[in-house]
Amino acid sequence: MVMPPNNGTHIGFKAGRVWDPEFCAEADWVVVGTGAGGAVAALELARGGESVCMVEAGPWREPRDYPRSSYATMRDNMDGWGATIAMGRAMWPIVQASLVGGTTVVNSAIVVRTPGDIFDEWKRDHGFGGRALADDYWSAQDVIERELSVTATPQATMGRTNELAYKAGHALGMHDHDMHRNIDDCLGSGNCMQGCTNDRKRSANVTYIPEALAMGATLMSSAPVFQVRFERKRAAGVIGRFVHPRTRQKGRRFSVRARKGVIVAASATHSPALLMRSGVRHRAMGRYFRAHPGSGIFGIYDDPVDMNKGATQGWASTQFRTTKGLKLETLSIPLELVASRLSGAGHTLKRRLGAYRNLAMWVLAVRAEATGRVVRGPGGKPIVFYSATKSDMVRFREGAKLVAQMHFAAGAKAIVPGVYGIPYSLGPDELHKLDDIPPDPRVWTAIMSHIFGGCVMGTDPKRSVCTPDGAVRGYKQLYVMDASAIPSTLGVNPQHTIMAMARVQSRRILAG
Ligand SMILES: Cc1cc2nc3c(=O)[nH]c(=O)nc-3n(C[C@H](O)[C@H](O)[C@H](O)COP(=O)(O)OP(=O)(O)OC[C@H]3O[C@@H](n4cnc5c(N)ncnc54)[C@H](O)[C@@H]3O)c2cc1C
Ligand code: SF4
Repeated sequence: MVMPPNNGTHIGFKAGRVWDPEFCAEADWVVVGTGAGGAVAALELARGGESVCMVEAGPWREPRDYPRSSYATMRDNMDGWGATIAMGRAMWPIVQASLVGGTTVVNSAIVVRTPGDIFDEWKRDHGFGGRALADDYWSAQDVIERELSVTATPQATMGRTNELAYKAGHALGMHDHDMHRNIDDCLGSGNCMQGCTNDRKRSANVTYIPEALAMGATLMSSAPVFQVRFERKRAAGVIGRFVHPRTRQKGRRFSVRARKGVIVAASATHSPALLMRSGVRHRAMGRYFRAHPGSGIFGIYDDPVDMNKGATQGWASTQFRTTKGLKLETLSIPLELVASRLSGAGHTLKRRLGAYRNLAMWVLAVRAEATGRVVRGPGGKPIVFYSATKSDMVRFREGAKLVAQMHFAAGAKAIVPGVYGIPYSLGPDELHKLDDIPPDPRVWTAIMSHIFGGCVMGTDPKRSVCTPDGAVRGYKQLYVMDASAIPSTLGVNPQHTIMAMARVQSRRILAG
C-alpha cells in the first residue's frame, strides 16, 4: 500500500516480520526527525503547498501521558534512556529526547535570539553569515516568538529558587538575561524535563506538528529511519523499520519515497550517523561536534526553597558569555536526580536528602572550545568522542566560583559543589577551596544538553558537510536542518537558532 500524499494522517507503530512486505508512503519531501529543526522545516514546506511526510524515531505522546518520574522519563522520552555517553577523558552523558517533537518536549522552553556576534563569527570562520543572514534569522525569530507565544515567566509562578537567583544577581551587579520562554501561562510546576503534563509548554508536538498535519502532512512515528536512499546522487527517500514504543520490538519495514528531496533533522548525534549509514562520504562528516557542558552547584538555605515549585528555569545571565565563555542559570531537578547528585549512600545520603526542601540548584554552562567527533558505532548507532580542554575546565572552575558567590549573596549557609576531591559542603568563608579544583573533567559531574555540529555548514568544501543553505555537498536534494549543521557553539540556548535556521532554509527551498 502506498499512502497518498497530503492526507494529514498520523501512522504509528506497525507490527510485522522482516519478510513481510514493507509499508510504503510517498511525498514531495521526507523530513527525518520532528524536533526543533525538523518540525519547523516540515511545517514551512507544508505551508508552501508541498506534500510532506515526517518520519520520527520516537512515539507520539499526549501531554497528559508524559511520565511523572525521572526513571520513566528516561525510559519513555529520552534517546537511549538518556544514557548516551560522550567517550573521552570524562564520560559525560549527552541528553536528548526521542519522541514526536524531539527535545523541544523535554526542554525548559527558554527562547533566546541568536546573538549578533555569532553571525560575525560564522562569517569570519565559516564563510557565511554577516548582517544579511542576521536579519533573516531575526525576522524568522519574530515570527517564531509570536507563533510559540514566547513570554516572560509569570512572576506569580517564578518560585523561590528563581527569586533567590534574581536577588543574588542584583546584589552582585550581574545582568540578568531576558528570560523568555515558549509557554502559555506556565504554572511553575518545575518539571519541564518530564514534558509539561499541564500542557503549558508550546513544544513542537503541540504546535508545529499538529499544524503541519492540519495542512495535509503525514507523520510516521515509532519509525526510526535506517538509511536515506539515493537514485544516483539524488536523495530519493528513506527506509527503516518500525519499533514498538514500549517493548522496543521491531515491527514492519517501511520505505518513504521522496519526489523532491529529503531533509535530515535527527539531531547532532543522529544526523551524522544516519548519513554515514546511508553511505554519504565527506571528510568533515561527524567532525566539529561541540557542546555547552554544564554542572550544577547546590546552595543550602535556612528556609525551604522548594525548587520543585516554580519555573524549571526562570533566571539566567549571559553577562559572561563572551568574556569567560559562561552562562549561569537556575535549574530545578526532581528529587531522584538530586539524590544522584548528592554523593554518599545509606544514612549519609538519607541525611543529605533530608535537606531537599532547602536546596536550590544553579548551573554553570560552559561555551566549550573543545571539538569532538561522531562516528558510526555498532548497528550504525552514533558514538561520540569528546574531551573538554584544559581551558574549558578552567571555565568550569570560574563558573563554579560565580555560582557559589551567588548562593552566598542570596543567603545560603553552605554550598554543595559536587566536585570530586573538594569537601562535600563549603561555608561562605571557604570559597577559596574551589581554587583547588584541578582542570580535569573527571572530577566533575556534568551533562551535555546543548550540542552542535557533525554535519556543519560552511563555504569551505573540505571543512563543511553542508553548504550555507544546508545542502549536503556532492548530493542532490539532500539537506540537513538541525543542530548538527550549526558550525559553532552559541553561548545561549539553541532551539531558537535551530528553528530560525530551518525556517530560513526551507523558505529558500520553496523559493527555488
Ligand atoms: C533537558 C534539556 C533542556 C533543554 N532546554 C533548552 C531550553 O530551555 N532552550 C533551548 O533553546 N534549548 C534547550 N535545550 C536544547 C534544545 O532542545 C535542542 O538544542 C534542540 O531541540 C535540538 O534540535 P534538533 O532539531 O537538532 O534535535 P531534536 O530536537 O533532538 O530532534 C531530533 C529528533 O530526531 C529524531 N530522530 C533521531 N534519529 C532518527 C532517525 N534515525 N529516524 C527518525 N527520527 C530520528 C529524534 O527522535 C528526535 O525527535 C535543552 C535540551 C535538553 C536535553
Ligand atoms: S514549569 Fe511546569 S507548567 Fe511551566 S512549562 Fe514547565 S512543566 Fe509546564
